[in-house]
Amino acid sequence: MNQHTSNTIDPVRSRLRATLATIQNELNLLSVPGQGNNNPEILRVAFLDLVNQLDLGPEPAVRECAFCGHLGRLEAKLCGYCWRPSLRTLPVAMATHVSAAP
Ligand SMILES: [Zn+2]
Repeated sequence: MNQHTSNTIDPVRSRLRATLATIQNELNLLSVPGQGNNNPEILRVAFLDLVNQLDLGPEPAVRECAFCGHLGRLEAKLCGYCWRPSLRTLPVAMATHVSAAP
């Protein structure tokens, strides 16, 4: 996540900070002898709230570039490193020639 440089309050980040503070507080209570978490539901709900806020979705499918070997998104038409076209977008004869090269 990038460093937020604006001087304005970002409600999304404020909510994330509050959720993380709740999780941190609940985790700290777990580590204090005799101060066990009386309500583990608070931690569970805060964690689920964090997961929902992050909304990461599934891991994107990736493929290795046939030219430079870097990983890129499966559906990308160009490699993000060498800017060559995906083998999937080349004519079959050309893609076969390139993929057979050492
Ligand atoms: Zn590449």
